[in-house]
Amino acid sequence: MSARPDGPVPLLLIALDGPGGVGKSTTARRVAQVLGWDYLDTGAMYRAATLALARAGVDLSDRPQVERTLAGLALRLEGPRVFLGAEDVIEAIRSPEITRGVSRVSADIRVREVMVDRQRALGRRGRWVVDGRDIGTVVFPEACCKVFLTASPEARARRRYLELEAKGKAPALEEVLADLQRRDAADSSRAVAPLRQADDAMVLDSSHLDLEAVVDRIVTHHRAHG
Ligand code: C5P
Repeated sequence: MSARPDGPVPLLLIALDGPGGVGKSTTARRVAQVLGWDYLDTGAMYRAATLALARAGVDLSDRPQVERTLAGLALRLEGPRVFLGAEDVIEAIRSPEITRGVSRVSADIRVREVMVDRQRALGRRGRWVVDGRDIGTVVFPEACCKVFLTASPEARARRRYLELEAKGKAPALEEVLADLQRRDAADSSRAVAPLRQADDAMVLDSSHLDLEAVVDRIVTHHRAHG
């Protein structure tokens, strides 16, 4: 690990940020596997919070209800699986309704405080690959290795479209692209922890790279600078 004389002690953690549909979760999971580290999908946490609030019929303007729902949030991540109480919600949190609602919920300052506290409690123990939007900038600025993964909106929409098609639920490609662009705009322009690349992140454009090439570059970067 490289010494940083004036900064905080680096944390053995790879922060992988970037816009939607760029392949962060698949990449992060694979990097974690290669290094033998754990993987944390913070997008899944915001999606699960969105699902819990929607199911409880909570409007974000109803602050006492938001507080109660967050306080009672029985959210657990076990490897790739996500639970609310005893229920595996991995499919439910990826539904089009939750995907459409998550940017609004994740812009809520209280939701972010609760999620960031949980992320920090986990990440401070052990070795993690963590993916999200604000991991290198806000959650773990002391991460030893930061990567900002990007790709053209068209490449991202095509990938997301193929994923949905494989599940037998493909909307039109233009619709997938419009949804992604809407979510990018909301995530990048929000007041709290907007999507932005950390000054010390390696920027990796995956538009013309396959998964193994992306993973290889991240692992090489980590070994050289981590
Ligand atoms: O990564 P994924 O697409 O599953 O993330 C879903 C949403 O969760 C994002 O569009 C964003 O609004 C929110 N998110 C966030 N901060 C993170 C991870 C995700 O605001 N660290």
